Amino acid sequence: MKLFRRDVNEPNPRALPEMLLETLNLLDGDSLILAPGEIPIFSTPGIESLGILKDGRIQSSELLATIRVVRRTHSQQVGRIDIPRGPIGEGKHELTVKVLPLTKGDLVLVLVSDESEAQRVHDIRRDFVANISHELKTPIGALSLLSEAVLGAKDDPESVKKFATRMQSEAKRLTDLVQEIINLSRVQDSDPLQLAQEVGVEYMIREAIDQCQIAAENRNITVTYAESSSAVVLGDRDQLIMALHNLIENAINYSPENTKVSVSTTKENGVIDIVITDQGIGINESEQDRIFERFYRVDPARSRQTGGTGLGLSIVKHVASKHGGEVKIWSVENVGSTFSLRLPVYSPTLERSE
Ligand code: ADP
Repeated sequence: MKLFRRDVNEPNPRALPEMLLETLNLLDGDSLILAPGEIPIFSTPGIESLGILKDGRIQSSELLATIRVVRRTHSQQVGRIDIPRGPIGEGKHELTVKVLPLTKGDLVLVLVSDESEAQRVHDIRRDFVANISHELKTPIGALSLLSEAVLGAKDDPESVKKFATRMQSEAKRLTDLVQEIINLSRVQDSDPLQLAQEVGVEYMIREAIDQCQIAAENRNITVTYAESSSAVVLGDRDQLIMALHNLIENAINYSPENTKVSVSTTKENGVIDIVITDQGIGINESEQDRIFERFYRVDPARSRQTGGTGLGLSIVKHVASKHGGEVKIWSVENVGSTFSLRLPVYSPTLERSE
């Protein structure tokens, strides 16, 4: 709960009935009370973390318009507003707001709920389940055929060995797929900005490179990161590392042996660009939008060979958007690809001095 400092003429938040404030704090959604001039005199913590209020001002022109209607008509209004999750990218909070006039001193109460988010999660889950069942059928079908083959070849140790090895790789594929499905659904269901940690950009790059080191060595690919960065972003550390890991792992998997993958950063206008460049097979322009879709692969046979699940970039896209950022791609076939994870930088000194 936040009670705002006020000027002499502003209504005194402490004069608001204690019971009203307690009730608002107990509600599931967030709430805000505004004095004339749209001066906030009370708000729950989510109001600022959702980006509805910044520096004591309401950020949404749609919400301000709804409040004006309430002030004019003295009747409650319900509406939907979209609030960007960050300065870049398309991620947004889709919120339902209920605006009510309070009898006391021209005050207006705004109640905010994220029902649209719940609906969206429900729709995504429904489509996802349909795709998953299709994807799971392939390794499960293979395992069932291979186990029959093992039984049929029980007197031929060489064949048994061959089929058992393939069973092992199908079982690994199934395990990876299930793990990626869990990762994606966790990312989709979470809000990393609600309980955000400060994550050092250099730390997360080094951690992701470490995780890909064995894959890189196996293909004699050098992954370089030759900078030091003091930039910090806000969010979920594990999700951010996972997103970078997926981009670096793809750069390795879709490149010929003995090539280089480089990671670098640039910082401009409060946004850090983490750039991963490879000298790999590249992606045709017509496919560049589609590769972020769940289970989309340009070449399913190659993706299968590398153990790809088709979910890696979809996870990256969701992590970026949930952190108020975005992911961009430049690629030329047979030359290489550059993926860029762009995230808003957190500046503690700026926040504290405000
Ligand atoms: P996968 O698990 O198949 O790698 P992703 O979602 O990570 O799935 O990527 C989707 C597809 O995008 C891949 O199957 C591949 O065709 C293409 N792709 C991703 N990264 C690269 C890259 N660095 N170079 C070339 N193609 C890539």
